[in-house]
Amino acid sequence: MYIQFLGAAGTVTGSKHLINTSTNPSGKDGFQVLIDCGLFQGLKEWRLRNWQDLPVPAREIDAVILTHAHLDHCGWIPRLVQGGFTGPIYATPATADLCSILLPDSAHLQEEEAAFNNKHRTSKHKPALPLYTVQQAQRSLTLLKTIDFGETKQLCPELTFRFTHSAHILGAGMVEITARINGSTRQLLFTGDIGRVRDNLVAPGKVVYSGPQEGESADLLVMESTYGNREHPHDDPRPQLAKLVSDTVKRGGSVVVPSFAVERTQKFLLMLKELMESGQIPRVPVHADSPMAIQAVSIFLKHAKEFSDDTKRMLAQYGSPLTWPEFHFDSSADESKKINDSRFPVIIVSSSGMATGGRILHHLMQRLPDPRNLVLFIGFQAHGTRGFSIKSGVPTVKIFGEQVPVRAQVAALEQFSDHADTPELLEWLRTFKKQPRVTFLVHGDPDASAQLRDTMEKELKWDVQVAHWLQKVTVD
Ligand SMILES: [Zn+2]
Repeated sequence: MYIQFLGAAGTVTGSKHLINTSTNPSGKDGFQVLIDCGLFQGLKEWRLRNWQDLPVPAREIDAVILTHAHLDHCGWIPRLVQGGFTGPIYATPATADLCSILLPDSAHLQEEEAAFNNKHRTSKHKPALPLYTVQQAQRSLTLLKTIDFGETKQLCPELTFRFTHSAHILGAGMVEITARINGSTRQLLFTGDIGRVRDNLVAPGKVVYSGPQEGESADLLVMESTYGNREHPHDDPRPQLAKLVSDTVKRGGSVVVPSFAVERTQKFLLMLKELMESGQIPRVPVHADSPMAIQAVSIFLKHAKEFSDDTKRMLAQYGSPLTWPEFHFDSSADESKKINDSRFPVIIVSSSGMATGGRILHHLMQRLPDPRNLVLFIGFQAHGTRGFSIKSGVPTVKIFGEQVPVRAQVAALEQFSDHADTPELLEWLRTFKKQPRVTFLVHGDPDASAQLRDTMEKELKWDVQVAHWLQKVTVD
């Protein structure tokens, strides 16, 4: 049996880890399951990999297991299906629901980008094609099979798996695999993305289940390392957020917040509501300008059993976010355009979170040149994304082929992360019932993964390696 890292090795996107039960290095006779099937995002050298086939023919892969619904973990599924994959795609019920809005939306953005490139002849490909279409995304959703947290599923004679809570976003789970190899049993744990530890002071505003499942045991661990070289600020973001918003409104500016549509947007809206109700920020209109916003909120409300105590309290007090008086959910393009006409301060929360596409681009284009406005980042910005450039202080940024001057105030609040930082990862790893024989770090920029490896070796005395793209690891 072996594992091969087909993505999120040396970078934070494109998660794809293949398990093949074959004892033969060609892998031909094995059962093959892909843990996550994510899109590469960020730098062009990575994004180009979305257009390449996997080293394993898609039709030879027997099943997919999804850790969660972020596109860097599920966004390549329509390509896999197009390539001939016909097996089941296992996901928790909330992940499956979220995929049903996120994948068609991702396809829609790809179609829009291709149409834009064709209209403006900005692509060397004629005609420019989308990576996949809305129809292809819809078709791939029919392969989703839901598995509840804790339920054990037999994949093949050698493999079973179950989901445990990773506390990253709604529906997010780690994948515990039990493998039978030559008469003995091996536990493999794929963490996907790991959420903040169980402490509301450390992770204020957490929408879902607090803290990753403790007391895991694994012979082989494949773990994310996004924040392997950083610590989140441990102070409450609310006073800083209140000051940033109040100062901007006072000078007549608007606040533009690029935000991931799922989890981050819901968390941020809850916090704005709390600040408004307690009089810490003025009551200005809040626009959740994402075609997915209403659907995503509805899916959150449907899976309320995953909520943290704080979220339950907020909703009991103020009711559904969809009916809050200052909040507007702009589903149509016309509603979105109307926000541009607003002469008075507004708060616009829109996706994509790293400003790589979506409606946020129109808002940035319009609001970046005015120094009264504030662009506020509340999420991780990967190298090579527009968000990364703006956050790092470039004087101009290219949007729709135009150089747009960055004169607005730019600020970032790092506390909103849905990823555990290094001390939190160590805290979680210390709860393990036994030490893994080996740990592979994935899903991190090279510096972050290397530093986390060194820290884990020093603090825990574990055998830790940074996974390489296409590397094969024998499990015995
Ligand atoms: Zn994620």
